[in-house]
Amino acid sequence: YTPLAEADPEVQNIIDKETWRQFTGLELIASENLTSVATMQANGSILTNKYSEGLPGARYYGGNEYIDELEVLCRKRALKAFNLDDTKWGVNVQPYSGSTANFAALTALIQPQDRLMGLGLPDGGHLTHGYYTAKKKMTASSIYFQSLPYGLDPKTQLVDYDHLTSQARLFKPRLIICGASAYPRDWDYQALRKIADEHGAFLMADIAHTSGLIAAGQLNNPFDFCDVVTTTTHKTLRGPRAGLIFFKKEGSQADDLEKRVNDAVFPACQGGPHNNTIAAVATTLKQAADPTFKEYAKQVIANAKTLAEELVKYGYKLQTSGTDNHLVLWDLRSIRLTGSKVEKICDLLHITINKNAVSGDASAQVPGGIRLGTSALTSRNMMESDMKVVAGFLHRAVQISLTLQKEAGSKLLKDFLKVATSGDGAGIKAVKE
Ligand code: PLP
Repeated sequence: YTPLAEADPEVQNIIDKETWRQFTGLELIASENLTSVATMQANGSILTNKYSEGLPGARYYGGNEYIDELEVLCRKRALKAFNLDDTKWGVNVQPYSGSTANFAALTALIQPQDRLMGLGLPDGGHLTHGYYTAKKKMTASSIYFQSLPYGLDPKTQLVDYDHLTSQARLFKPRLIICGASAYPRDWDYQALRKIADEHGAFLMADIAHTSGLIAAGQLNNPFDFCDVVTTTTHKTLRGPRAGLIFFKKEGSQADDLEKRVNDAVFPACQGGPHNNTIAAVATTLKQAADPTFKEYAKQVIANAKTLAEELVKYGYKLQTSGTDNHLVLWDLRSIRLTGSKVEKICDLLHITINKNAVSGDASAQVPGGIRLGTSALTSRNMMESDMKVVAGFLHRAVQISLTLQKEAGSKLLKDFLKVATSGDGAGIKAVKE
């Protein structure tokens, strides 16, 4: 046993620097969070050594008695965290991430070249929901399936359920996916169920972003209306990087979803599960069932609402003018700044955010906005009063960006930021000097 610092000081040093970055800067990326020490201990445990292809009680390798116990425990906790009855719902806890969970779910539900509809990427949807561009089908969900995106009402910037209804009548999808990566409002799962039922289609919710808030009862419950629910475990749920697929055992469009989902995860899409990660997911789910997690989730939303209100007070425009969940979509187009420039300026100021398309952007490649999320700062016990200070910092960052753009010109600023924020940190050092 040689500790990492001794065995590999180079990697230890990078971990130390990243630890410093995470705790001295302001982490506002909506898809990130700060997981607990207990979760990290499980994730870094000896369970990483074990192969266990298959399911509890039916493995392709020996020596799995404790791994079986772990996976059964993790499943039980997953159902409990979302208040699900195990006679009606089951869960597969083996997906390596949200993307693999989604592809496995598509594999389980529909056939190659079947039709699916998901929220378009420029409107907040995720790549795995069928995204493609006019030039290229670059995601597996658009290469192996035919997809048609639905979108937002340009006036309200809310999901346009009426337009989706009429598009679905023309396209006749086998699957409708709801859920998003950048949508600050809640979903009407009942309306979506109605649209899906018109076509005998499956309804799948990808709650990767909001699963922690849903588990805490702070948002609408997709389990009341969907056949399948997928999620990542590392966003508002505050766990390790992994995915879960929940499936309805009865009363769905198909009675064999349990077998379909389990077969799709292994052997169709994955090999051996990452047991260390499953242990960390189990620990996370125990924490999510604790009453303190409900308080955390409430605070995440209260903080996002305050952040949104403060930015509006500074005169900025937000998509849908506010938020119901953990994220705020900040539309920068009216002040003629790209999301990319503000992201880079913020990087120099140790505020971590990400550029994001806002509704009406011509392309998701040149995003006109910024996505902000309050999950990580809330995990550091920040409250509404702290959000007011954070909004002030963001305002100053934008003012700096505008001043530099005015004085240096848009192109020069872009080139400067490219160098300043490049790879090894040398750029940042040079700028500081
Ligand atoms: N689904 C949604 C809605 C997401 O936002 C993301 C990631 O951001 C994913 C799926 C993919 O998750 P992962 O990065 O773990 O593959």
